[in-house]
Amino acid sequence: MDIATGVRRIRAANPSPMTGTGTNTYVLHGADGAVVIDPGPALPDHLAAVLAAVQGAPVRAILVTHPHLDHSGLVPELQAATGAQVYGFGGALAGRSALMQRLAAAGLQGGGEGVDAGFVPDVLVADGAVLALAGLQIEALHTPGHMGGHLCFALGDALFSGDHVMGWASTLISPPDGDMSAYMASLRRLQAQHWRRFWPGHGETIADPTLRLAELAAHRHARETAICAALQAGPARPADLAAQLYTDTPPALLPAAARNILAHLIDLHDRNVVFSTEPLGAGAQFKII
Ligand SMILES: [Zn+2]
Repeated sequence: MDIATGVRRIRAANPSPMTGTGTNTYVLHGADGAVVIDPGPALPDHLAAVLAAVQGAPVRAILVTHPHLDHSGLVPELQAATGAQVYGFGGALAGRSALMQRLAAAGLQGGGEGVDAGFVPDVLVADGAVLALAGLQIEALHTPGHMGGHLCFALGDALFSGDHVMGWASTLISPPDGDMSAYMASLRRLQAQHWRRFWPGHGETIADPTLRLAELAAHRHARETAICAALQAGPARPADLAAQLYTDTPPALLPAAARNILAHLIDLHDRNVVFSTEPLGAGAQFKII
């Protein structure tokens, strides 16, 4: 559907507890062609739908917010069909903080979130880069948190916010790809600018970005407070805390909840609020200091 003049949203048929109603792909039409933001999952019907939305215009670029397969899986097929170059921050490990690099080197494993390990952009996009594509000016913002190499793309005062700010749920922060300290900093960065609209990777258009950013920051602060309160009662592991704190969460989402808790605990550990006698990971036991 057209969500603004020259901006079309195509929703992939990959609904799930992690993707909501499915991944949003955006096709932007400029004076000199089209740009695709987040090709989406590798589904033949989705490729056909994206190409139909392009309406025969030359595709000048494929922009990728982050290499999770529900966003980048269709890259090879879309590139083969259009010949367009692929723009991204880097490969799946790019953009990790020094802390996450250290924890990964020490053995911290991700939670199996569908990382696109083979993703290699043709064009590396740095923070603040202004891309002149298809007659449009698109600014890239490096917004690590959901993933180290996550980018948002600004078109004027509208932002394609990827999985950093979604329209249906708070995002997954699963270390070492996810990084709670970086996520909160990326939220604050967006809060420092005026935005009229967010067009997220999942869910509907966010009509009040200021409110949404405040909600998300408050949600994480409340979760952090609840984790610290629970640890006051005694040491606990991420899975125990998830079961205790996410009482209104469907069981299928509790493993993801435990990853978010782990992200909070690593952040709290880094700030010397909690400690663990075991290597930082999903199975570690944490205590309040
Ligand atoms: Zn993602």
